[in-house]
Amino acid sequence: MVKNNNSTGHGAKSLCPVFKKCGACQMIDTPYKKQLKIKHARVQELLEPYCKVESFIGMESPEHYRCKVHAVFTHDKKGNPLSGIYREGSHEVVPVESCLLEDQKADAIIASIRGMLKSFKIKTYDEDNGYGLLRHVLIRIGRNTGEIMVVLVTVSPIFPSKNNFVKALRKEHPEITTIVLNVNDKQTSMILGDKEKPIYGPGFIYDICCGMKFKISPKSFYQVNPIQQEVLYNTAIEMADLKGDEVALDCYSGVGTIGLIASPHVKEVISVELNKDAVKDAILNAKINEVKNITFYQNDATRFMQQMADSGDSVDLVFMDPPRSGSTPEFITSMVSLSPKKIVYISCSPESLANDLKLITKGGYKAQKAVPVDMFPFTRGVETVVLLTKED
Ligand code: SAH
Repeated sequence: MVKNNNSTGHGAKSLCPVFKKCGACQMIDTPYKKQLKIKHARVQELLEPYCKVESFIGMESPEHYRCKVHAVFTHDKKGNPLSGIYREGSHEVVPVESCLLEDQKADAIIASIRGMLKSFKIKTYDEDNGYGLLRHVLIRIGRNTGEIMVVLVTVSPIFPSKNNFVKALRKEHPEITTIVLNVNDKQTSMILGDKEKPIYGPGFIYDICCGMKFKISPKSFYQVNPIQQEVLYNTAIEMADLKGDEVALDCYSGVGTIGLIASPHVKEVISVELNKDAVKDAILNAKINEVKNITFYQNDATRFMQQMADSGDSVDLVFMDPPRSGSTPEFITSMVSLSPKKIVYISCSPESLANDLKLITKGGYKAQKAVPVDMFPFTRGVETVVLLTKED
């Protein structure tokens, strides 16, 4: 872990006033080029046995990339509202005014909400005694559409002077396209509760990525860095070198992004994803984009692959984008028996990627190259795309 040290050239003072309390950006005070160098060395070390690691694709302006911004609301001893983030590993709130990672418009909206609470007599929630109303604010921004969603997470569905609150907030930020009230009355570390209703606009936003439109609801999984998301998906599609006649599998498909983006370049896409809501969104995304050559299955990816292998199916190409823990040995065994010519592995953990590459390469595949993409500047997070081809 890179500490806040003199490598920055600006001594002990951090670029971020809450660096020590927050702990989310392990590399906040490391110059950006050096961050990439450190991360590249880590990937190289882990993937060395398998393939060459190409240069890191970094960002031109690595600040304020996060388009999903969450603030927890609380108050000080005098009852003045505060908003910020939980101190790492605790439920203590560290007040945050602005963050180098977060979209600045999102931070400004959060500050406005904080400023409006007193005049609207809205109390922030107190975890200890259960009093108060407002727990969290979540902002999601569609960078390529300009649409903005504000989610107000409260303990009760009754939000006093709701219409005036909406009016006042939109007066300060007319670019807000929807406001959702989400009710979370449980003692839980989850931010969002089950019940929600739009109090302004449609209750969701759209964003555009690689020419496709995606619906983002409060709970949708969607990459937080839209600029690098395009870079990542384009890298994956380029690596696949599609000819137009392939049957492609998109495993761990989330809201359908990679499969949908690949769909114009292949004959057919089969997508599998465990999360029911994500699959619902994916089906809708296919409709919105009028994509007809894609089928979505809600299933455990390992079970799905085993079923395909058992029925003797074969595919030309597999995109796989598993969670941090990586895939499973059973998934890999079944994938190998489907005999795809190419596998494009998108990974958010170089450690689990290296583990999985060991098994895939044992199964008769050769890793051709790895391209790391910096999705999470200032943090240790690393995303890597690897191309594997079937050995003759
Ligand atoms: N490819 C998508 C999502 C990647 S995140 C994108 O680029 O946006 C990983 C996804 O794997 C999540 O959507 C998660 O719900 C899903 N997932 C986790 N475990 C799974 C499993 N066992 N089987 C299928 N999908 C799983």
